[in-house]
Amino acid sequence: MTEHAAPTTVGQFSASNDAESVFYYPPAALVENSNVLAYAREKGFADVEAMRQWSIEHYQDFWADMATRMVDWYVPFSKVLDDSKAPFYQWFNDGKINIVHNALDRHVKTWRKNKLALIWESEKGDNKTYSYWQLFKRVNKFANVLKSMGVKKGDTVTIYLPRVPEIVIAMLACAKIGAMHSVVYGGFSVEALHTRIQDAQSRVVITSDGGYMNGKVVELKKITDDAIKHSPVVEIVIVVKRTGHEVEMQQGRDLWYEELMALPIASTKCETEQLDAEHPLYMLYTSGTTGAPKGLVHTHGGYQVGVATTLHFNLDIKEEDVYWCAADPGWVTGHSYIVYGPLMLGATQVMYEGAPTFPFPNRWWNIVERYGVTVLYTAPTAIRGLMRFGEAWPNRHDLGSLRLLGSVGEPINPEAWRWYHRVIGRNNCPIMDTWWQTETGSMMITPNPTTPLKPGSGTRASFGIDADVVNDQGEHASDDEDGLLIIRNPWPSMLRTIYNNPDRYIEQYWSRIPGVYTAGDSARKDEDGYFWVIGRIDDVIKVSGYRLGTAEVESALVSHPSVAEAAAIGLPHEVKGNAIHTFVILKNGYEANQDLEDALIAHVGKVMGPIARPEAVQFVPSLPKTRSGKIMRRVLKARALGLPEGDLSTLEQ
Ligand code: ATP
Ligand code: MG
Repeated sequence: MTEHAAPTTVGQFSASNDAESVFYYPPAALVENSNVLAYAREKGFADVEAMRQWSIEHYQDFWADMATRMVDWYVPFSKVLDDSKAPFYQWFNDGKINIVHNALDRHVKTWRKNKLALIWESEKGDNKTYSYWQLFKRVNKFANVLKSMGVKKGDTVTIYLPRVPEIVIAMLACAKIGAMHSVVYGGFSVEALHTRIQDAQSRVVITSDGGYMNGKVVELKKITDDAIKHSPVVEIVIVVKRTGHEVEMQQGRDLWYEELMALPIASTKCETEQLDAEHPLYMLYTSGTTGAPKGLVHTHGGYQVGVATTLHFNLDIKEEDVYWCAADPGWVTGHSYIVYGPLMLGATQVMYEGAPTFPFPNRWWNIVERYGVTVLYTAPTAIRGLMRFGEAWPNRHDLGSLRLLGSVGEPINPEAWRWYHRVIGRNNCPIMDTWWQTETGSMMITPNPTTPLKPGSGTRASFGIDADVVNDQGEHASDDEDGLLIIRNPWPSMLRTIYNNPDRYIEQYWSRIPGVYTAGDSARKDEDGYFWVIGRIDDVIKVSGYRLGTAEVESALVSHPSVAEAAAIGLPHEVKGNAIHTFVILKNGYEANQDLEDALIAHVGKVMGPIARPEAVQFVPSLPKTRSGKIMRRVLKARALGLPEGDLSTLEQ
């Protein structure tokens, strides 16, 4: 980076020379102005690291402080954590709150009333903007519409919309009246939508006549019709007009959103329900990378505290920022860091409807330049996808407004990290590689703007989070030993249960090692205490007794100039126990042939040692991914072994 801050904000570091010990220091001015340093100073800590240590040791004090500073309560809480029914933890449970009060109501009483909350750009290029006041009124109107249909506290509304402002409005309207939302990614198949509607027992479903993606119309209404053929529970379908093309409207069941919003019942005044902190806010399914997706429940109180805190400290959002999280509101990153987080902080954000490469691979960089985006939060799959088209596309644009970058969803390969840092961040924007899960509700292992970075590592646990790597017996793993990624203490934004399946909640997360949360990922910590997520527990490949993480093999492949994306799996092998099989997507301009396969096998052997040499490299045009962009290794493995492919409800078509 250009101006390196002295490494005073984090403790002592080892001086060894391997790649994992090369630090990227954040620019001094960014550190100096960061939200987190201001807090550490105010609290009288010598540095941010000392504050972080305190926040973990005294996590209840830390979260109580955040719950008081970051959000407003109707009735203050007197107890921080109730662990009497652990692992069904409860946070702030005698307080009264509503996340919409903090996302909208409180802002419209201040100058922020006229601040832009949302700048939405369609795939075609036109845009719509909403001030906090405009969004507030829209949400009130739609909340009244829902109420008029008998939707009430405790009901669950299913939302199946494309990336349009109405998805934000619909989610907030549900939360406002104390109904849960269950958002299903726009574009999921009939079966996936059907099972989610059934699970939630939704009387009301919100969809649209279609959505745009890559210049094509996605037929959301048609999919909805098919999905609810066998769901007698559905009484009303509200349809947002997006594409304007003809759809079948079933009389007595289907109603146009725009017409409802024009009715007198859709008044702009609507009281926000004062809810118990533990009142459920939403249910949401995990991505389905490792198996059948799990429907998880988050609540109003603790969730908002975790989300607001992490967005403030880790992505460092300020009043003047133009923030853009390029995820979809339909997965947890969108719930936390598009719909709720930025609004709670009173930020201005950009939302983009369509594909990153439409009509050309510079679409994102064009958006950054035009709106002056300052903080960009995206996923490794998007970075790798855009890298394939080369630097010329971003280089056409002035990306000088950017000051901070973020990554989430998968381990980011060091090569992709460096590209993101150099080409998009112009060597001047630290990358917050944030590890977290649908289950955790908010970021768990992540740098903050003062943290010296290592490409590919999420660095350390976030504030108030006691994360560790342990062996199968639950003992703290030594440096560089791989093991299970766990969280020792509860945290406010944690999932409360698996919907309709409390036993599975205990079994899945709290049983492998009694008393601690097991995330399902394998990881290791280096000698600086930095975390490296190396894959899913079940995907770890054991070759001749050695354990290799999928992420490590894939990153070794991606570090070869010809490789855009890679996936690694283990397949049974007579001698080695398992052998590594890999699948590679080449960058534009490279040709798949035997020489390149040999070169790639040799390259992995060189980077990781001979034990990791893949048995085979298969060149493929695409990889099976979830809708949220994660590589589904279990599908590759099942195909290779000729076994059933398992739950494919979240597979990208
Ligand atoms: P399922 O639980 O249904 O298999 P999923 O785990 O992919 O799906 P999500 O909750 O969307 O569902 O993803 C969380 C997972 O994503 C983490 O457990 C981790 O494996 C991976 N992940 C997310 N962010 C990062 C990151 N920054 N670095 C490494 N891995 C990450
Ligand atoms: Mg998971």
